[in-house]
Amino acid sequence: MTTMIGIALTGRQVVLVGGGDVAARRIRRFLLDGAIVRIVAPELGEATARLVAEHALEWRTRGVGPGDLDDAWLVHTATGDARIDADVAALCEERRILCINAGDGSHGSARLAAETRSGDSIVGVVSDAGVDPGRTRLLRDAIGELLREGGLPVRRRRLTAVGQVHLVGGGPGPVDLITVRGRRLLSEADVVVTDRLGPIGVLDELAPEIEVIDVGKRPGHHPVPQQEINEILVERARRGLRVVRLKGGDPFVYGRGGEEVAACLAAGIPVDVVPGLTSIVSVPQAAGIPVTHRGTAAALHVVNGQDAPTEATLAAMRDPQTTTVVLMGVSALLGFTAAALSAGADRELPVAIVESGHTDEQRTTHTTLATAAAEAVTTGVRNPAVMVFGHVAAADLLLPSLVSEPAGDTTL
Ligand code: SAH
Repeated sequence: MTTMIGIALTGRQVVLVGGGDVAARRIRRFLLDGAIVRIVAPELGEATARLVAEHALEWRTRGVGPGDLDDAWLVHTATGDARIDADVAALCEERRILCINAGDGSHGSARLAAETRSGDSIVGVVSDAGVDPGRTRLLRDAIGELLREGGLPVRRRRLTAVGQVHLVGGGPGPVDLITVRGRRLLSEADVVVTDRLGPIGVLDELAPEIEVIDVGKRPGHHPVPQQEINEILVERARRGLRVVRLKGGDPFVYGRGGEEVAACLAAGIPVDVVPGLTSIVSVPQAAGIPVTHRGTAAALHVVNGQDAPTEATLAAMRDPQTTTVVLMGVSALLGFTAAALSAGADRELPVAIVESGHTDEQRTTHTTLATAAAEAVTTGVRNPAVMVFGHVAAADLLLPSLVSEPAGDTTL
């Protein structure tokens, strides 16, 4: 029978008997846990030797003797010789030291669990019968997968005095384009404060008791003012709740994430930021457009289309080697292109307007600087859209045959 116990090895002496590959793997794990590692082995394999050098570990260059186990809380034997391993295990038993015996098909007095971690939860798998490491690992991996997908109830049941705010970048929309960390934090959250853009589909997967507050802004409409969003974050965290502020793309790209961080810090609320795939790069990519491309575009200039173009933007628009990406630019497109043309930008500069990138409604309009504004009106371009100005926006840059096929006729 086995009882699984979490043991804190930090600052505790662990003795590794043996210096081969198994020893190296285990040493790495013990070091991660903060253990003090002593190795007893006449010689070392390459991986173990490297660890000894890198971490200045104690190495006793000899066959193991009783004195080598002094001060040990835990001994791990992996000499490759079942008899020696058994002798070490017997010595440990006499001295009441827990021993993991890698050479013993029935385990020693202790065994290492196959572990998977998610945030501050550790799930370990051990077998109560014979050793079958392959099976244990597969089970561990399957549980790890569930944890990462947010499929397990990892939300805290006990409130802490002060909660925490996580600003999570959700990426451009699809649920599987949020980061693993962001997804985990969502499944741990008590409150989710969300925008309209981003992976809002993930909200359907949250447990019903999780409070979801939609503060989504549409262009021209500001349903919840920024100040009020800041107050919601601070107020919920003060109640001891764990708050996820879910944002489209990356929190620090035109998302007012900086202001939210500052508000939390000013209120003494712990806050952190999880990056997300920004639409600057991922939306053009969805239309097959690389924002830089060797030989075509070496620099990237990004602007908020609601602001009048600056000198730097007009210079970028004139430079054939620079890609200019405009966010939130649909309503100001006419003014933007007119300013660029009168500043001397190339009338034939390729332009791509990518609407609702990475969604079922994705649509790309390929045009040129001189015709973009008129064409956007004709085709009825709508928000959200990313506009790409530059030679990378040419329709046939990467996939000439696919892009030029009329819709419906494309064969892959
Ligand atoms: N923080 C976000 C940007 C927020 S500003 C990010 O890093 O992506 C909102 C603008 O982003 C929109 O007006 C639009 O220009 C762009 N945008 C975001 N998601 C988009 C999508 N899926 N398709 C097209 N444009 C998108």
